[in-house]
Amino acid sequence: MSVSSTMKDSSTMNDSSIMNDSSTMSVRVRYAPSPTGLQHIGGIRTALFNYFFARAQGGKFILRIEDTDQERTTDESLEDLFAALEWLGIDWDEGPRRGGSYGPYIQSERVELHRKYAEQLVADGKAYRCYCTPERLDALRKEQERTRSKEKGYDRHCRNLSKAERDELEQSGQPSVIRLKVPEEGKTAFDDILMGTITRKNRDINPDPVLLKSDGFPTYHLANVIDDHLMGITHIMRAQEWIPSGPLHILLYEAFGWTPPLYCHLPMVMGKDGQKLSKRHGSTAVRDFRRDGYLPEALINYVSLLGWSYDDKTEFFTREELENVFSLEKINKAPGVFDYKKLEWFNGNYIRMKKPEALKELLIPYLIEDGALAQPPTAGQDALLDSLMPLVQERLKKLSDISEMTRFLFTDIPVPESADLIPKKSDAVKTIELLNTAAALLDAKWDEGIDVLEEAFRETSEELGIGLGALLMPVRAAATGSRISPPLFESLRLLGKERTLERIQLAAEKLQQEVQ
Ligand code: GLU
Ligand code: ZN
Repeated sequence: MSVSSTMKDSSTMNDSSIMNDSSTMSVRVRYAPSPTGLQHIGGIRTALFNYFFARAQGGKFILRIEDTDQERTTDESLEDLFAALEWLGIDWDEGPRRGGSYGPYIQSERVELHRKYAEQLVADGKAYRCYCTPERLDALRKEQERTRSKEKGYDRHCRNLSKAERDELEQSGQPSVIRLKVPEEGKTAFDDILMGTITRKNRDINPDPVLLKSDGFPTYHLANVIDDHLMGITHIMRAQEWIPSGPLHILLYEAFGWTPPLYCHLPMVMGKDGQKLSKRHGSTAVRDFRRDGYLPEALINYVSLLGWSYDDKTEFFTREELENVFSLEKINKAPGVFDYKKLEWFNGNYIRMKKPEALKELLIPYLIEDGALAQPPTAGQDALLDSLMPLVQERLKKLSDISEMTRFLFTDIPVPESADLIPKKSDAVKTIELLNTAAALLDAKWDEGIDVLEEAFRETSEELGIGLGALLMPVRAAATGSRISPPLFESLRLLGKERTLERIQLAAEKLQQEVQ
C-alpha cells in the first residue's frame, strides 16, 4: 500500500493523527447510515458490530448521518433510525442529538467543509473541474453502448483542458463538477482485516468519479472519506458491498495525503437461498420485527451471530456480554444466513426469561391494539392476564402471538366455520355428537378440577374408539376459535363454565343447520 503519511490538512476543524497500530490507538468507529429507507436488519448488524467493538476496546462509537443524497433522504427514515437504535439500546458516544467535539455529525451540515476540501484537491492538481453537460455524458454513454466499447464511463475529456479553455468555460458560467484524477496506470491496494489485501488495477477503477456535484453537494465518496478522516475514525466496519469503493477511497486518502483507517468489511447477510437478504425473505425492517413482537435482546443476540461467533457452542449473549467479548478476530468470512425460525427460537427463549409481570406489560399493548382489552385494562382483565401468564409464557414465540392465543378470553368470537370444527375423517353428524358428549362431561365434572376432567375425556374417547385429540379438537375450536390457545382445560377454566358450554352449543347448532 503506498500511502503517504504526511498530514497536509489545512482544516480549522478538529483533526487527529491516526496510528495504524490497533494495540496503541484508541478505537473510534462509526455507523454511517444514509437515511433513505427504514432501518434494515443488515444495517443494524453493522451498527452492532461497530458498537460492540468500540465497547470491548474501550473506544468510541460514533453515529454519523450520511444524508448528502438529499433527494433520497427522508425525515421519516431518520426518525426510524433513531427509534430503532433507541429501542435496541445502542447508544452512541458522539453523534446527532448527543454532540461531540468532531461535529457536526450530519453530513449535510458539513458540505462547506467538503467543498473546501474538493477545491483543495483541484488546487493541488489531484482533481479537476469537468464542464461536460448531461447531454454530452449521455451521448457518450450511448456511443459506448452502441460500439460495445471497452471504455466505460467518463472519457476524461476535461482532464486535459488547457488553462485558456478552462478559463473560458469558467467565465461563461457553465456549471461544473469536480472529478478525481484516477491514475491511468498502476494498482491500488488496501488491507482488509478479514479479506486480506484487496488490489485493483487503476484502469479498472471508475474513471475520474465525481467528488463534488454541480449543486455543490459532495458525493458519498468525498464526504465519507473526509468525514472519516476528520472524525479520527480508526476502523471502518461496513458491509461487503462497499469493497468496490475501497480502492477509490484509498486514492482519495492518497490525494489528500492522509493515512486511511483500517478496514474490515463485514460478511454478507443472506437469506436461506443464498441471495442477499431482502423483503422476499421476510421482514427486514427493524420496525417490523418490533411490531411483530420480537424482543430487543433476542434481536441483538441473533443479529450478533450473523457473521460472528464466540466459539462453536455459545449461543446466548446478553448485550453486556457482547460489549465485553466482541472481537474482530472472531468475525467469519462466510456470509451470515438469516434464519427467521432461529430468530423466533431465540425470541421464545427470551420471552421465557421475562418476569411474568414484565411480560404482561409487554403484551398488553398488543391486546389493546387488537381490541381485546380496554385501555387501560379493567381490573377483571388485569386479573385474567395474571392467571394467563404462566400458560402463555411457555408458548409465545412472538409477543404478537398473544392475540390469537387469548383473544377468545377477552371478546366474543364468531362461531367457527364447520370445516374448522370437524376433525379429520369425521363429519358434521359425528362432530355434533362429540360436542354434545363433551358438553355433558364438562357440565358434570366441571367442579372436580382439571385432572378429573382430563381423565374423564380420556376414558370417553377410549370408549368411543377415537383418539383423545379427535374429541378435544371440536371443543377447542368451538371455545377458543384458535389453534394455538393455551392448554385446553386451563383455557376453558379461564373462560368459565357458562361461556364454555354456550360456545359449544352454538357450534353444535351451526353444524346442525348444515346437516338439515
Ligand atoms: N452511507 C453508507 C451506507 O449507507 C456508509 C457506508 C460506509 O460505512 O462507508 O451504507
Ligand atoms: Zn468533462
